[in-house]
This record gives sequence, C-alpha cells and structure tokens, in this order.
Amino acid sequence: MADRTWYVGNNWVGAYLLDTGDGLILIDTTMQPQVYLVFEAIRKLGFDPADIRLILISHMHYDHLGGVRPLQEASGAKVMISREDWAFMTARPDMIFASGYPLGAFEPDAFYNDDAPVVLGDRSVRTMLTPGHTPGTTSFFFEAGGHLCGLHGGVGLNTLGDAFLAKAGLPVTARDDYLAAMLKAREIPVEITLGSHPAQVGMMDKVGQIRPGHNPFLDPAVWPRLIDGRIAQVRALMGEAA
Ligand SMILES: [Zn+2]
Repeated sequence: MADRTWYVGNNWVGAYLLDTGDGLILIDTTMQPQVYLVFEAIRKLGFDPADIRLILISHMHYDHLGGVRPLQEASGAKVMISREDWAFMTARPDMIFASGYPLGAFEPDAFYNDDAPVVLGDRSVRTMLTPGHTPGTTSFFFEAGGHLCGLHGGVGLNTLGDAFLAKAGLPVTARDDYLAAMLKAREIPVEITLGSHPAQVGMMDKVGQIRPGHNPFLDPAVWPRLIDGRIAQVRALMGEAA
C-alpha cells in the first residue's frame, strides 16, 4: 500500500501491517475463521506474526476484531480500542454481530487518546474518534514514505437507521455525530486511502496496476470522494438536502 505498509486482509475486509523497525503494528484482524490468512500474509511478507507488538482495532464489529484473540496469543501484542466501543461492546455483546461464529474473549490494554499518537519504533499513528457506524469507530492517519495514509475506521450507514438505533438503544443523534466526524475527517489531506473494506475504494481493482515506481493507491482524490459520498448519504438519511 505504501512504504513499509502492507495489506494483510482478505478480499472482503481489510487488515494492515506496519513495520516500525521495532516490531509490527497490525490494524484490524478480520474474522476469527479467516485469521489464518492474516498469519499467512504476514509470513509471506517475511515477517513473524510473533513480532506484532500492537493491535489497533477500528471498531467493535466481528469482522474487524474477530481475529484479536489468536493474534494476541501468538504475539503477546498489546490491544487498543476506543473507550466508547469497549463500553458498548461489553454492555451489548450482541452488537458485535458474532452470532454463529467463534469469538475469543480479550481485554484491551489501552484506549486511544486522540491527543497522543500511538508510537512504536519509528512509526506514529494518529487516531481520530469518528463515531456513527459504532459509538467508538476510530480512524487512523500516519506517514509512510513521505505520504499521508488514512483509514476511516467504519463508514457504513447500516447502523444509523431508526430501527437499528432503537434496537441498539442508541440516540438518533448518532447521525449528527457521524456527519460531524465526517466533516472533520474530510479536512485531513490523505494521499493513500486504506479501505476498512477494500471495496469502499475499489482497492482490489487496482492491484493489477501495481508497477515498480507506480503505486496506484497513491491518489489524493480517493479520500474526499469516499467521505463526500458518505456525507451525502447521511444527509439523505437525516432528511437534509445533500
Ligand atoms: Zn462494522
């Protein structure tokens, strides 16, 4: 994806590996039944999954944190999630949507602080609380090879309809929170957009365009296009003119 930054997810949900020179950072873990693909991708890159020092979770849904337990057991990595999502998932484990799948329990080692980036080795990851998809959805921004990478932690509006919010016991103002956070994220000049799901930004279609000296994922137009699309969708959901 970028300098010392790799995609290690599957073809449906993303996971990203950062080499820090002092161990590895893994952002998201995919689902537990598919986590062997994360292990395999890390090994194919020439790294040892045991060298993961930090696991950063974008949000509390099963497809992002399902692999935490086996990855943590293999590496002893510290696990970070937002305080808001940890509170919600412990109060409402049904909202993890793990039904029918195995999900190993885990405890976070730390919560994000948007005023203090996550630092390991020579890498620094800035977090931004971008709630709406879940109460504590977190986005990540970091430099790689002189370019700014951005990963919006969860853009789906499937959790913001009236019926879903009522079932989840969440206020309809979650939509306002989503819009406010999108407007804030829109200001970040992301050059390389990492999809929390690759289809959000057509990542899989660009794999064949990778050439020496040409990174098809380096495109500053992608981030504002992704964010603007979701801003229009939430405004429509809120009954506002787009
Ligand atoms: Zn989700």
